[in-house]
Amino acid sequence: MAPTPKAYDYIVIGGGSGGSGAARRAAGWYKAKTLLVENGQSGGTCVNVGCVPKKMTWYFASVNETLKGAGHYFYDVPADVKFHFDKFKKRRDESIRRINGAYERNWEKEGIELVHGTATFTGPKEVVVDFQDGSGKQAFTAPHILIATGGYPILPEIEGARHGITSDGFFDIETLPRKIGIVGAGYIAVEMAGMLNAIGVETHMFLRGETFLRSFDPMVQETMTKAYEDAGVVLHKGYPGFEKIERLDKVDAVAGKDVHEKLTEGPSPQKELKITDKKGRVSEFNELLWAIGRAPEIKDLGLEKIGVKLTKSGHVAADEFQNTSVEGVYALGDVTGKAELTPVAIAAGRMLGNRLFGPPGLKSSKLEYDHIPTVVFSHPEVGTIGLTEPEAVERYGKENIKVYKTKFTAMYFDVFSPEEKAKHPTQYKIICTGPEEKVVGLHILGEGSGEMLQGFGVAIKMGATKADFDRCVAIHPTSAEELVTMR
Ligand SMILES: Cc1cc2nc3c(=O)[nH]c(=O)nc-3n(C[C@H](O)[C@H](O)[C@H](O)COP(=O)(O)OP(=O)(O)OC[C@H]3O[C@@H](n4cnc5c(N)ncnc54)[C@H](O)[C@@H]3O)c2cc1C
Repeated sequence: MAPTPKAYDYIVIGGGSGGSGAARRAAGWYKAKTLLVENGQSGGTCVNVGCVPKKMTWYFASVNETLKGAGHYFYDVPADVKFHFDKFKKRRDESIRRINGAYERNWEKEGIELVHGTATFTGPKEVVVDFQDGSGKQAFTAPHILIATGGYPILPEIEGARHGITSDGFFDIETLPRKIGIVGAGYIAVEMAGMLNAIGVETHMFLRGETFLRSFDPMVQETMTKAYEDAGVVLHKGYPGFEKIERLDKVDAVAGKDVHEKLTEGPSPQKELKITDKKGRVSEFNELLWAIGRAPEIKDLGLEKIGVKLTKSGHVAADEFQNTSVEGVYALGDVTGKAELTPVAIAAGRMLGNRLFGPPGLKSSKLEYDHIPTVVFSHPEVGTIGLTEPEAVERYGKENIKVYKTKFTAMYFDVFSPEEKAKHPTQYKIICTGPEEKVVGLHILGEGSGEMLQGFGVAIKMGATKADFDRCVAIHPTSAEELVTMR
């Protein structure tokens, strides 16, 4: 007979942003006996191959941008200042390991029991964990089980696609490629292209349409696409798709692994990829980055066994309270495909903890998924909250919205030449509705947008009107002051 499963109040599958937020709220605040199952690195995507290493690399690239601008401020900075990406990468990895450790220490402090392994449902209230250290399997049971297993980056089904990398592989790069092709038009493609271009990698983006960031306001799409072209990113618009990718330098065919062996002379080992597109055109790159979307991580979960329903896109279907179609089984974060952002997953996890284990007053806790501020760490940054102009027109009717717009050059660029100034746009748009001019959308691009948006997010979440914006005294001299003085 199989041994009795170990019993808990709560089992959380996935120790990423959502799983961690959920487990900490349940165990740390409400003392629920909580098991956390994680089959990768603690902290999940955000800490290991997402927000954190991305933002650190964005800072690395921003230093180079500042160095390039220093001459305009009459600093004698040589044009060929050397940098050591490999050393930066090692330091970045160390920081990530420190954060992994901090995650695990916090879980321990809060009484969360952590096991490293892969969880699979064997019943609606039971999972079996296959331990990563090879020590075998163990069954666990709880009245409440949360799926917070996140997602993974997609590789297309194209011959030789695996010769390229995804965003996960981006964080393995030690030697920068001389020339990279990036496929995709979403924020991950745009961020990675911006960083690589800023540190001198010849960067090409392949877009099906004419602009990138297609889900953003048209102002953002158009201005940012042009800003990238002005910054030297080569955009291949209306690209028809690739037929095949061939690796010309040496590949360890037996292990199926790239050995990065250098066949040509050059300062560093470089991959050599030959890419043939659907029109038969051939180009060569030292790296190819697929940033074409992410899929939910559900393959090991055995959801079909317990009847958890999926959405059309293959994500776990969850209602506004994070309930799945099976009673006592919940899902949140990227695996549900809704607003795939770290703070969203954390907040949903906390709300679910309040609802399941908190006091009676919190029994209907849920996350509000509207007005979520988002930043793209592009060069320059983009911030957005609420509706785009086309969405506002569709929801309220053109006659019921009023749009305020401004474009200007941020003061930092005042000392730049006119041609250089033109390459550094700042643009803001406020979208209002009704006679009271309630702000329903805010779109900003330019230096500092990331830090600027959070405070405006609070105001908009509170229902601010244009008059509320105007009543706030401007902070001078800043770019942000333009948002409270717009006519
Ligand atoms: C390149 C990149 C940049 C990003 N930048 C930002 C940003 O700047 N800001 C932002 O807010 N968001 C950003 N994101 C998105 C953010 O990382 C995700 O929205 C967030 O990590 C989702 O959290 P999650 O808990 O749903 O999933 P994850 O963090 O992916 O965690 C899921 C965990 O579950 C584990 N797991 C999976 N299956 C099992 C199983 N069967 N058993 C046990 N464990 C399992 C996985 O190993 C993983 O650790 C970025 C993402 C990427 C890829």
